[in-house]
Amino acid sequence: MTIRQARDMIARRETTVHDLTDHALKAIRTHDGAIHAFLDVYEEELTRHSVSSQFGIEGALLAGIPIAIKDNILIAGKKATAGSKMLETYEAAYDATVITKLKEAGAVFIGKTNMDEFAMGSSTENSAFGPTKNPHDPARVPGGSSGGSAAAVAAGECIAALGSDTGGSIRQPAAFCGVVGLKPTYGAVSRNGLIAMASSLDVIGPITKTVEDAEIMFNVIKGKDPLDSTTVELHNMEHGAWNKEKKLRIGVPKEYFGEGLHPEVKQAVEAALKMLHDSGFRIHDISLPHSDYALAAYYIIMPAEISANLARLDGIRYGLSKDADDLLGVYMKSRRAGFGAEVRRRIILGTYVLSAGYYDAYYTKAQQVRSLIKRDFEKAFEEVDVIVSPTTPTPAFKFGEKSNDPVEMYLSDIYTVSANLAGIPALSVPCGVSKDGLPIGIQFMGRWFEEEILFEVGKEVEKMI
Ligand code: GLN
Repeated sequence: MTIRQARDMIARRETTVHDLTDHALKAIRTHDGAIHAFLDVYEEELTRHSVSSQFGIEGALLAGIPIAIKDNILIAGKKATAGSKMLETYEAAYDATVITKLKEAGAVFIGKTNMDEFAMGSSTENSAFGPTKNPHDPARVPGGSSGGSAAAVAAGECIAALGSDTGGSIRQPAAFCGVVGLKPTYGAVSRNGLIAMASSLDVIGPITKTVEDAEIMFNVIKGKDPLDSTTVELHNMEHGAWNKEKKLRIGVPKEYFGEGLHPEVKQAVEAALKMLHDSGFRIHDISLPHSDYALAAYYIIMPAEISANLARLDGIRYGLSKDADDLLGVYMKSRRAGFGAEVRRRIILGTYVLSAGYYDAYYTKAQQVRSLIKRDFEKAFEEVDVIVSPTTPTPAFKFGEKSNDPVEMYLSDIYTVSANLAGIPALSVPCGVSKDGLPIGIQFMGRWFEEEILFEVGKEVEKMI
């Protein structure tokens, strides 16, 4: 069931909040043993509060809708592990701004979902609590890092979910699990209460069954927040550059359709493009010439910010703490025991690229490349309204296929990181299935704060599939 359907059924008194919650809990009981999308399910509490009036803010946008939350987003009084041993017993002291907004809209939180440790990964294999399975094929990964949220939506264990996206962590798992994922514009959604990975790239967004549901969720969580100074009030699109009368122009960047792209993914995306063309969209070939450098720039800037953000996890202030003879010993023992291999790798890389003598060669250079990538998009958006690409180079891969080769794993983010570097919104929508029955996603990237156009094109793709 979608948010829209559930809302209509509640309005017509064909279902109750209690039934919706009960249905989600039953699905979790039936499927989650095999899928492991959840780290925590609020079963007892939800069963206790089984009276609909507890939650049903009649008429509210999300009244009674069971929603799952990625475990790096804080809900007061609930555990927030970020998929790490370091925070295994940590309980949040306050609600993230997005949680406050969802509560005000009447949403019911069903539980917290699995993720790669501190959102570092593309498969959930980096979770300290074991991986999540792809509901379409349990031998394959659900993607990551928001793999638990995407799998939970795909398996019907919740109606919608929140994820976070630093380099693709909403869109890539959405594509692998056959659901919709939106990475909003940087600054459109508050990061207050999100456990930070790389602060200049991180953004919270919805994972849903339909584009319309993503739009509903986005409209609830967006907006300026005094607790996150990078947020802004969103412009009304009616006054934006986009004129609904004109036919939307879709740009196809040649750099996103080259080497390394799986033929079945290419075929599915091209078929969707052809249908968009046939229904009146104008298709243009474009170029984003610095795309080749995006992954390299991302894998310098992101670890640099990680090394700074994760310094606070020192065995003193938060989380896991190990005894030692002196303070340095506490730091070293706690961090060694608390962090997994990938997190340690990125802290080491990030500390290195920020170190005196290397700072200019790596970090400054990467920031310059980031500006060039942003400029590529600014130029392209003078000619087109939306840019299209595959979300991922391949359908979902098998467990263990890439986990021993970090660079192979990093390459699965090749089409998603640019949107984070530029700060633009990007939407992944299912556009087909492979011969093996694995979902394939198409990505639409838009101008800053023009999510609305992405929804429009996304809905068009949904109609065709
Ligand atoms: N897979 C990417 C990485 O490992 C993206 C992570 C994310 O968006 N949180 O960095």
